Amino acid sequence: MERLLSDIEYNYNHIKERIAEAAVKSGRKPEDITFLSATKTVEPEYINYAISLGLDHIGENRVQELLSKYDEYNLENCSLQFIGHLQSNKVRQIVGKVDLIQSVDSLKLAKEVSRVSQNKNLTTDILVEVNIGKEENKSGVMPEMLEELLYQIKDLPSINIKGLMTIPPICDDNNKIRSFFSDMNKMLLDISSKKLDNVSMDILSMGMSGDYYEAILEGANMVRIGSALFGKRIYK
Ligand SMILES: *Cc1c(COP(=O)(O)O)cnc(C)c1O
Repeated sequence: MERLLSDIEYNYNHIKERIAEAAVKSGRKPEDITFLSATKTVEPEYINYAISLGLDHIGENRVQELLSKYDEYNLENCSLQFIGHLQSNKVRQIVGKVDLIQSVDSLKLAKEVSRVSQNKNLTTDILVEVNIGKEENKSGVMPEMLEELLYQIKDLPSINIKGLMTIPPICDDNNKIRSFFSDMNKMLLDISSKKLDNVSMDILSMGMSGDYYEAILEGANMVRIGSALFGKRIYK
């Protein structure tokens, strides 16, 4: 199977239209929603082609893959973010290279991002990942532990908490998925209303290829889309 630039262009425009439609339907403007592409397994030439169409946020899942592609991304007008599960011992390899780490889910990891950022004399923006479906063996802090984690990490130096991210359980039931998204939005608003020092809840990152429309209807302002843009993932 081969990727075709014409397919990527068609998909890009189609996704932009659907994002705009969902934004308006949920009382917002198209530009209020950030379209980030999850670019795992996609070769830099295709990523750069999407960037040339206007894509301005990309996210990688694996540190090794990000580093191997890093010099080839055309990042002048594009934000590079980390969206996958992150091990503490790899933090130092990506701090300074990514604009946002979306997947902080423990005190240990937050402390390491803070420590490394401080050493490098910079500040790193982070999202806290929530395991909204309470699935075993899945990344993300349990919903009932979220507030405690925020209290533990909010005063760490050299990190800024910018919001929440989630990957809900895989399921066919649209209403069930929407209820996970809606629970996330409620948590975000609840934390926002507490006005914790050093905690902003500007970003709600949720929704992927199959459910970004529903996620936006439920309040997402950042969606992470892979296969709907680049086609089926080709694992080598
Ligand atoms: C791969 C991935 C996505 C996108 O998945 P698609 O279903 O291909 O859109 C979104 N978020 C994360 C964290 C991912 O790893």
